[in-house]
Amino acid sequence: MDNNEKKNAEKCIYPRPDHIISRSNISPNAVKVLYRLNGAGFEAFLVGGGVRDLLLERKPKDFDVTTNATPEDVRALFRNCRLIGRRFRLAHVHFGSEIIEVATFRGQHEGDQGDEGQIVDGMIVRDNVYGSLEEDAWRRDFSVNSLYYNVKDFSVEDHVGGLADLKAKKLRILGDPEARYREDPVRMLRAVRFAAKLDFTIDAESEAPLFELGGLLEGVPPARLFEEVLKLFLSGHAVKTLELLRRYNLFHFLFPQTEVCLKEDVDGVNLAFINRALENTDSRVAEGKPVTPAFIFAVFLWQPVVCLRAKYLERGMSESQTMTAAADAVMSGQSRRISIPRRFHTPMRDIWHLQDRFLKRAPKRSIRLLTHPRFRAGYDFLLLRAEVGDAEVELAQWWTSFYDADESGRGEITDKLSRGRRQFKRRKSKSNTSPGTE
Ligand code: ATP
Ligand code: MG
Repeated sequence: MDNNEKKNAEKCIYPRPDHIISRSNISPNAVKVLYRLNGAGFEAFLVGGGVRDLLLERKPKDFDVTTNATPEDVRALFRNCRLIGRRFRLAHVHFGSEIIEVATFRGQHEGDQGDEGQIVDGMIVRDNVYGSLEEDAWRRDFSVNSLYYNVKDFSVEDHVGGLADLKAKKLRILGDPEARYREDPVRMLRAVRFAAKLDFTIDAESEAPLFELGGLLEGVPPARLFEEVLKLFLSGHAVKTLELLRRYNLFHFLFPQTEVCLKEDVDGVNLAFINRALENTDSRVAEGKPVTPAFIFAVFLWQPVVCLRAKYLERGMSESQTMTAAADAVMSGQSRRISIPRRFHTPMRDIWHLQDRFLKRAPKRSIRLLTHPRFRAGYDFLLLRAEVGDAEVELAQWWTSFYDADESGRGEITDKLSRGRRQFKRRKSKSNTSPGTE
């Protein structure tokens, strides 16, 4: 069945015995919101990733509610409610740190002649028309994200063939794929994100335009891209995500300088480094450990910084200046695509500068370095580099023993290194003094 046939298809309602969603797996706060809306005479459904993930027996990240109540109606029902959004008003109902997002059914904008200015160059600039549930279902991105759980009778409502796609592990964009990506190019990144996260295949028609349309990402505000990039790489499936982004020529539009380096990466060390770092991030996410955007950005931009430094050195810039100059240039190049908030700039620079400082290993300096606020991040970065051959294994091992040792142990380690260096210098100067020159 293609999209047009689907559009004419009857809506399907799956009663409670025909699906596996149980109220006990839904956040009690979301259930509370659904019941209160229902009680006030409105329709109220759980929708989006929450329903999709419950049907897949996964733990949802958050729960979104959709209703025929307007945002003002919602605000009147909940004291703990704030209205947000200019393009489309949404109600956020706050329960401590949990926020339940409540959106009014949205209408179709395609061919919506009555409201000029909504779509400019094929991209949505305003999107604030309320509609029916059926319209709301068709303006969502993928069929599996368009399933509605009705708290009134515990049924699941499907207008778009989403349940069949979910069973077939297929990601299908609703409507005409190219038009939907043009309307909002971020949907291309969402396709990759869900394919990686859910281990779904992207349906052939939904997939074909991805190879061609990456350039549209240049029109997306850099601040929005930053948010999307965090979801792409910090959600536990970063390795797969990078592979897909590169397969569809999308990565280049997010990290152009990195992609240039990857293309020139003849020995594969740079790709190996990025993949090791992403594997590491994925396991940290799986273990519930914190992950920082600064680290990931420092990883992606490391090779561009190294290459630019080499160019600056060739042009005669002093070595001590090259790191700062290259870091500045690479960061400002990157910020034209993805705006990295200022609070991440210093940690990124520190991680890079530490790579130089790790080389010195002078006793007092080394001890001081351990107290550097970014020592741990810089050290983890060095370990990953050493694992793939981008830094000396001996150097990484030295820092590991130095870091693990107590005070006297550290003294011994630096003494040993100084002795070794003195012997090395003596041997070198002897072998340089050839007989007959004296
Ligand atoms: P997750 O929260 O697990 O990342 P999600 O599918 O819930 O995934 P959200 O960003 O929370 O994603 O969005 C909630 C729902 O809103 C989606 O499931 C989809 O139905 C709809 N949606 C979100 N972004 C878009 C978009 N760019 N175009 C169309 N519909 C969208
Ligand atoms: Mg969600």
